[in-house]
Amino acid sequence: MNWHDIFATRMSRMKASEIRELLKLLDQPDIISFAGGIPDPALFPVAAFQEAMTDALSPAKSSSALQYSVSEGYGPLRDWIVDQMASLGVPCTRDNVLITSGSQQALDYLGKLMLSPGDTALVAWPTYMGALGAFNAYEPNYDRLSPGGNRSAEDYAQAAADKGGRVKFAYASVDFANPTGETLNLRQRENILALADELDIAVIEDSAYQSLRYDGEAIPPMLALEIARKGSIEECRTLYCGSFSKTLAPGLRVGWVCGAASVISQLVLMKQAADLHSATLNQIAINTVARNVFEDHTAMLRRTYGARRDAMLAELEKHMPEGVSWNRPEGGMFVWLTLPKHMDGGDLLRASLETQRVAFVPGQAFFADRSGANTLRLAFSLAQDAQIEEGMKRLGEAIRAMM
Ligand code: PMP
Repeated sequence: MNWHDIFATRMSRMKASEIRELLKLLDQPDIISFAGGIPDPALFPVAAFQEAMTDALSPAKSSSALQYSVSEGYGPLRDWIVDQMASLGVPCTRDNVLITSGSQQALDYLGKLMLSPGDTALVAWPTYMGALGAFNAYEPNYDRLSPGGNRSAEDYAQAAADKGGRVKFAYASVDFANPTGETLNLRQRENILALADELDIAVIEDSAYQSLRYDGEAIPPMLALEIARKGSIEECRTLYCGSFSKTLAPGLRVGWVCGAASVISQLVLMKQAADLHSATLNQIAINTVARNVFEDHTAMLRRTYGARRDAMLAELEKHMPEGVSWNRPEGGMFVWLTLPKHMDGGDLLRASLETQRVAFVPGQAFFADRSGANTLRLAFSLAQDAQIEEGMKRLGEAIRAMM
């Protein structure tokens, strides 16, 4: 049977990356890996979840915890999110919040909501690979979002029209982005909002790492800046995607979208059609744990991950050869490293795995145009100090050997 003739055209854009195949090799115990950009499981609030799950499954509560529930999401959890959004400068109500199965589902739904084949999505070069993966299914073109504000709206609109569609949204990972660890400053956020106004497009604000700031001043979300200008969330074009994955537990798959009620109601219809609702029990447990431990728990995560970031920066300083540069993220899980121009991160990974037993993610996969061959992403979230020290030493050796 020729499945290829049966698959929809959108599948042609959905390919397993070569890098993912390489990263499957990382289970071997002698490899020190900075590849996985995931939370440290040793830091999960396990006792709090045990208690919350036991309570949710008690005789008085189990019949609703195990039952179907509304597509919008568990009401008390939406209320907690409303309070959280208010603390970020986003006054809103339950009607502005949809619970999704991770923020990844929000990205998929927003792509589905807005992209027709041939439309253009503006994304950073590089950007979160999972966002490109989610949007790819809707067959868009990509253009480079330049938060510096040095490209005109007319230029973007013309480029999109030349490719047979129009610009639909700008997607930005605003705080401690995956993969670069970089944060958009106030000016850059304002530039994106101004561009979006001019182009009359949506803004997808990905705030997955928002709670993980280790130093520096918090910068208001674009949604807060837009509300401050326009008076009400209902007038805003920004759709804020939040997540409990980096703060509480990714395995429960609970995230949210916050935005104008007129858009949220469309997303609710989409969710109804796609999966009815996110897991009821998981939403209840997240609500209980968020209410009981969120502040203390995230404070502990900031201390722990912040110390790992400091350790990685210190070891990079010691071990990287001349010609290699990296940034200093104020939060999140990633440091972004730039090799000399002629070097290739994929080749370096192959060599590093073989000779130094150290792993990372080559940066190219994060670029919609496949540029950025001389970059790589290092995650410090999973590594203990001793591993960071030894790992950076080995990485330095591997780079030197290739130079
Ligand atoms: N956005 C960014 C920038 C991410 O790094 C991730 C997870 N790696 C997600 C969204 C998706 O996270 P989740 O679906 O677990 O909320």
